[in-house]
Amino acid sequence: MKILSWLKLQPSKHKNKPVRLTILTIWLLAQALLTGLPVEAKEDLNTPKVEANTAPIDTGRKVEAKPGKKNITYSDLIQKINKGEVVKVQIDESNQKAIVTLKEQPAPKTVYLFDRNPELISKLRNKNIDFDVRRPADNAAVVGLLTNLLFLLLLLSFILVILRRSANASGQAMNFAKSKARFQIEAKTGISFQDVAGIEEAKEELQEVITFLKQPEKFTAVGAKIPKGVLLIGPPGTGKTLLAKAIAGEAGVPFFSISGSEFVEMFVGVGASRVRDLFKKAKENAPCLIFIDEIDAVGRQRGVGYGGGNDEREQTLNQMLTEMDGFEGNTGIIVIAATNRPDVLDIALLRPGRFDRQVTVDYPDYKGRIEILEVHARDKKVDSKVSLETIARRTPGFTGADLANVLNEAAIFTGRRRKEAITMTEVNDAIDRVVAGMEGTPLVDSKSKRLIAYHEIGHALVATLYPGHDPVEKVTLIPRGRAAGLTWFSPDEEQGLPTRSQLLSNVAAGLGGRVAEEIVFGAEEVTTGAGNDIQQITSIVRHMVTRYGMSNLGLVALEQENNSYLGYENRKGEYSEEIAANIDTQIRSLVTHCYNLARKIIEDNRSLMDYLVDLLIEKETLEGEHFRQIIESYQKEKLQLVELI
Ligand code: ADP
Ligand code: MG
Ligand code: ZN
Repeated sequence: MKILSWLKLQPSKHKNKPVRLTILTIWLLAQALLTGLPVEAKEDLNTPKVEANTAPIDTGRKVEAKPGKKNITYSDLIQKINKGEVVKVQIDESNQKAIVTLKEQPAPKTVYLFDRNPELISKLRNKNIDFDVRRPADNAAVVGLLTNLLFLLLLLSFILVILRRSANASGQAMNFAKSKARFQIEAKTGISFQDVAGIEEAKEELQEVITFLKQPEKFTAVGAKIPKGVLLIGPPGTGKTLLAKAIAGEAGVPFFSISGSEFVEMFVGVGASRVRDLFKKAKENAPCLIFIDEIDAVGRQRGVGYGGGNDEREQTLNQMLTEMDGFEGNTGIIVIAATNRPDVLDIALLRPGRFDRQVTVDYPDYKGRIEILEVHARDKKVDSKVSLETIARRTPGFTGADLANVLNEAAIFTGRRRKEAITMTEVNDAIDRVVAGMEGTPLVDSKSKRLIAYHEIGHALVATLYPGHDPVEKVTLIPRGRAAGLTWFSPDEEQGLPTRSQLLSNVAAGLGGRVAEEIVFGAEEVTTGAGNDIQQITSIVRHMVTRYGMSNLGLVALEQENNSYLGYENRKGEYSEEIAANIDTQIRSLVTHCYNLARKIIEDNRSLMDYLVDLLIEKETLEGEHFRQIIESYQKEKLQLVELI
């Protein structure tokens, strides 16, 4: 799926670039034409002036212009200046004319100057007469010339656009030429092992690689062959790229990087030539580190799937294998590749002498998350009351990138609220935002708001009253992302592997929302809001039946754990239709079991639920602590009532 959409995107991305660039050029030119020149031209039109040929000019020193209405001679002008009849003089240097405004006459006069302006200017200064001088750019002839030139340029770029378009549509020349050095080189990454936290095992394993790069002789002296390739395997955002950069940084070698997705081009041969270029450049700069991100994009099993294989991809992969075979580790080049789909990689990549070392970079645990938070809190103003431990406890399943994002969002909230330092409020808001999306505006009180409230209280109530569920952290009617209301739980990852009863309690709590809707509004009024709940429940129960041996079907693994991190669909096991039907029956019976329990809990506590719903609608958010207190005191009262009877 990924590769398909990617293939579709890639060509258009490459096609668009040159076209867009050219369009930009046109725009700039058009801009100059539209705003710059006409304005000047207009100014010229506005200023009254005489056509050059209407003013017969003497070759003599004195200008004998016709004493017409519009023109006066230079000597006239001097006289008038001396007499104090001149109000204003506008000198135009480009055509050596002056426009003169006289005291009693509203129509300005034109005077031909013949380079006498310095004299004129000093006179004007002496007499304190207002004047200004225009530079030659205003010249009508120049404007004309420029306009012609611009039209020419415009025409040229237009032709260029057309040429490039057709080149892109029909040929490979453009792309091929462009594709030459499409990899990044960082002479110094500036990242050290201190910037990478929470993945200690991976760091330890890679410590050695730094020594390979720094002191290869240590190993070669005793006859050891230095490995060439390391494959980093892990989900996105866990710090694979960061780790690779840190290795280069620690070893003080240049960092060459390219992404597998950049390799696969539209045209056969481009990727392979790029690989050749990359390794050639790297060899010139050894010792160095080559980082190939998303290697699965190019290193997929050859000859399988996705539209009968991709010649280009295979050629690129072959070239990569050839290059890796073509140098010895002790030449000082180490190739690090990263992927989150190790299951699809061509086995040839994993052979000795290629990426024979594999390092897993996994989700950080509680301690790891604290360390990562420490790294990212270093450059931020954090209030002393903020507890990184609390943040780490709230964020199981977060990657390093998620945690960095949380602290960054918190800093943004802090800035927006004009606070001095990040407090726990901002951090909590940031976590909510990273997990569930942007906060929206709550609905006004209405039937649908009541239904959402019942739905959420239904989840929270069942989760609290069914033993073994994680505690409710809060229930809220403030929408977030695509959710109209939310019930949050405080996850407790340190309790170890989930038990059967915990899984069942999750299923029951997940059904609580729909059950509450049904009980209060009737089976016909239930909404689509439970869609996501049902999906999750089905997935839990299916796993219980087909993988964990937690149903009457017994201890058989009917489906395999998928090795990828992307949550691609399960690989179906090989089983008969009879077993498939059995699986369905088991799933249904487990869900029904949980449904009945949830229904009982809610029916038994109907008045408590009504009370909680009213409170939630009033307050919009109920904190877990408050929620539990209410339930506790309610249950005590009920017990007392029972005792009295
Ligand atoms: P990946 O390559 O595995 O997808 P990245 O290395 O690109 O992940 O991580 C993205 C960002 O997340 C990093 O630049 C860094 O800020 C942060 N990050 C991820 N993992 C860690 C970690 N283990 N320690 C510190 N920061 C991390
Ligand atoms: Mg990465
Ligand atoms: Zn729900």
